[in-house]
Amino acid sequence: MTDTRILDAALSIAVIEAMAEAIEAQKEELSALDSTVGDGDHGHNLAKALAEAVRTVKALDNPSLFEVWRTTGKTVQDSVGGASGLLFGAFFSGAARAVKAKTEAGPADVVEMLASGLAQVQKRGKAQAGDKTMVDALIPAVQSGRAALAAELSLAQTLSRAADAAQAGAEATRPMIAKHGRAKFLADRSQGYQDAGATSIALMLGAWAGQVVGN
Ligand code: ADP
Ligand code: MG
Repeated sequence: MTDTRILDAALSIAVIEAMAEAIEAQKEELSALDSTVGDGDHGHNLAKALAEAVRTVKALDNPSLFEVWRTTGKTVQDSVGGASGLLFGAFFSGAARAVKAKTEAGPADVVEMLASGLAQVQKRGKAQAGDKTMVDALIPAVQSGRAALAAELSLAQTLSRAADAAQAGAEATRPMIAKHGRAKFLADRSQGYQDAGATSIALMLGAWAGQVVGN
């Protein structure tokens, strides 16, 4: 398949909007997951933060690709406290960093966005694979994205592989014991439930892939 679609600033705004809609639609379920060990606010916090990000990026005057993602990162970080603000904001700011000097992103750039987003999340949060956090969805997404690049797949296919891997990664957090965030205080209770943040990452990457395929 020769899908040559690229990600530019306008499509990025549509991606952020689709992410916000996906999290809004699942916010009750996400907060319920967070309530098994955390404080039950995850879905509601992230939905509110992304809705604010959509409003903010839509108000920008002819923004660059970098500005769309960096503004999203800053807005998410500022609009809510807790892990969702700081760490989800770090993901978007990290993604922005990878496209600082670009007007358009192809498959390799988009995989770099995911890798750079993951790097910022780990820099801030210090979570490793298996700690039952959003990192457990992001690591397989980056790995699958890199494998898709090696196979010279299109942007749509690369993103869809990354999103599927994030989904599998989120499901794989179910038997894990949480080692970070509020969940660590009730570590054993976290077993048997998917991590809320990893589930959100899977939904967000699914929304991203959906926009690229659908446009
Ligand atoms: P809070 O824990 O402040 O209430 P949220 O409920 O919004 O924040 O987010 C909880 C999610 O944040 C968890 O499900 C987990 O995926 C993620 N998380 C928590 N701590 C870390 C960390 N150190 N590194 C990466 N992700 C983390
Ligand atoms: Mg919480």
